[in-house]
Amino acid sequence: MSLTVLMNAGPWLSVPPPGYGGIENVVATLVPELRRLGVRVVLASVESSTLPVDEKMWVFPDGQFQSLQRPYNQVCGISQAHLNGVVRALYTRDDIDLVHDHVEAVGLATMAAMGPDAPPVLHTLHWDLAKHPELYGNLDGGERVRVNGVSASQLARAPRALREHSVGHVHLSTPLAVGADRRPAAEKGDYLLILGRINPGKGQDVGARLAQRVGFPLVLAGPVGPYHRPEDLAAAGDEARQNPDVRFFYDQVAPYVDGDLVRWVGTVAGQERDDLLAAARASLFPLRWEEPGGTAVVESLALGTPVVAVSRGCLPELIEHGRTGLLTADEEELGDLVMAAGLLDPDECRREAAARFTPATMAQRYVELYERVRQPAARPLQPA
Ligand code: UDP
Repeated sequence: MSLTVLMNAGPWLSVPPPGYGGIENVVATLVPELRRLGVRVVLASVESSTLPVDEKMWVFPDGQFQSLQRPYNQVCGISQAHLNGVVRALYTRDDIDLVHDHVEAVGLATMAAMGPDAPPVLHTLHWDLAKHPELYGNLDGGERVRVNGVSASQLARAPRALREHSVGHVHLSTPLAVGADRRPAAEKGDYLLILGRINPGKGQDVGARLAQRVGFPLVLAGPVGPYHRPEDLAAAGDEARQNPDVRFFYDQVAPYVDGDLVRWVGTVAGQERDDLLAAARASLFPLRWEEPGGTAVVESLALGTPVVAVSRGCLPELIEHGRTGLLTADEEELGDLVMAAGLLDPDECRREAAARFTPATMAQRYVELYERVRQPAARPLQPA
């Protein structure tokens, strides 16, 4: 295939990310598969990105993630500066067939504002669409700009103007799904795991309260705001409370974290993360928001760990109730489901992941969407 894609991963983290990094992980998973399919990839990221690509471009030497904690007027110039570099490149070179953009809000706004001579754009919506009603409600990307979601449920809730630009959804994937059905089964521990940012939407407070009430061991893994380790959060003192996720942790979660039945272990990465997830009896998603894509959900399946969740967002698309997990609309029922989760077969979970959530499956689907976006006749404006 002769296709050159400018993959805009943004300025926040290097690709692959050093630890936590949802979008950067998706890009790091997608790009090698695209290149295997013959796509030439120009990565717009930061200089410290190490992902093998055909060409790299950047404005910043390193990821600017830490600056996201600063006030808006100090932080907004960073994404603009990065986009400015991307736009300049698009106007000065003629080899880019398509832009695959992943930069929240400003990526879509900037790409949509470029003139008709700019390349076609596929912008992936990785986040909660309710965050940007003004932009999405008034979007006009003409014939040139299209969006895709990371689940059908995410797009179904999108404002009409955004849905009119949609070419459908692509589920997230994980390299752990490759050969998941052939991997030896892990020995299971007795604990449940909530893997994700500590945040009201992810519902760690619900899980921790339930664990204390029903009496099951619960491990919380993930960062609290920018703090990856309990000792870093402690060292930050009262100033850390400026971050809303830190306030949520201290006020709603920490009272239940006793270091025994309920533990917060900070961010886990690499083999440690995989081992922790593979040995969990189930992974728990006590959601209080419409989870858009659920990387941690597909990772859990790939490692043979059934999912117990509040049935919101993409969960019903990813999990089959009674086979790969247990879903409920009522968070109070999670306690009973946790007890029943041990009856589910880890092999079913791993087979499901190997069949549906491999990087190759995701890349194939993106190549199909690239083709659609490049052919104006195949992308009339109509609700998805
Ligand atoms: N993650 C991780 N270590 C942690 C917590 C989370 O590596 O301690 C990873 C998790 O495995 C997943 C990503 O962070 O790959 C979170 O993506 P997801 O789509 O589940 O949630 P988001 O944060 O994007 O809403």
